[in-house]
Amino acid sequence: MLGIFGGTFDPVHYGHLRTALDVKETLRLSDLRFLPCRIPSHRSSPGASPQQRLRMLELALQNADTGFSIDRRELDREGTSYMVDTLASLREENLSRSICLILGIDAFADLPYWHRWGELFNLANFVVMRRPNSTEPELTGELADLVLENRMEDTGEFAASPFGKIVFLEVTQLAISATGIRKLIACGKSPRYLLPDPVLEMIQSQGLYRTAS
Ligand code: ATP
Repeated sequence: MLGIFGGTFDPVHYGHLRTALDVKETLRLSDLRFLPCRIPSHRSSPGASPQQRLRMLELALQNADTGFSIDRRELDREGTSYMVDTLASLREENLSRSICLILGIDAFADLPYWHRWGELFNLANFVVMRRPNSTEPELTGELADLVLENRMEDTGEFAASPFGKIVFLEVTQLAISATGIRKLIACGKSPRYLLPDPVLEMIQSQGLYRTAS
């Protein structure tokens, strides 16, 4: 079972890393790939370049025994990063494998704004992580119906399905966001202990996020 943790990672932080490990262990994923997007389709431009965000991810994962890897396919593809194209190319590699798209609940609630979002359920399962210290967005309309029909409580059963199922997981509560980190840096404060030291060192040496974005 393959887990895909997509995001902007601008920068990657312990909120991403710890929760990815929670999901990998709870679902016994054989492989968990961080998938940085090149140009996000539904948010403002990142503060760091795609190469810088990739390098920060590499620094965050180096020397860890977690079995995490990085999938570069969105960075290598020209233009806007649409998850539907990414999942279709992953699906082409293996038609029967279970693919699990890992998302925070905030990102999941936004799904109806994603490009060709209905097709995503024919390509992957969804692992929805609960986000700390925030009011959970209410799921409405078609997305709420899909959750009612396809939500699974049993993670073992979930693993057997290649696509179309949804599971909600409680993960370690870490109230860390990339926005919060960028804001700290822009007002001259340190984000130390919110992200791995090698990532912080790169941010400092390259002067990233010094102006508010
Ligand atoms: P930003 O603040 O710039 O929006 P972010 O911290 O939410 O960034 P992203 O790269 O946009 O990071 O997120 C990638 C994925 O990680 C999303 O699905 C998001 O919901 C999830 N995520 C981010 N921070 C946490 C956290 N502290 N706990 C659990 N999930 C998180």
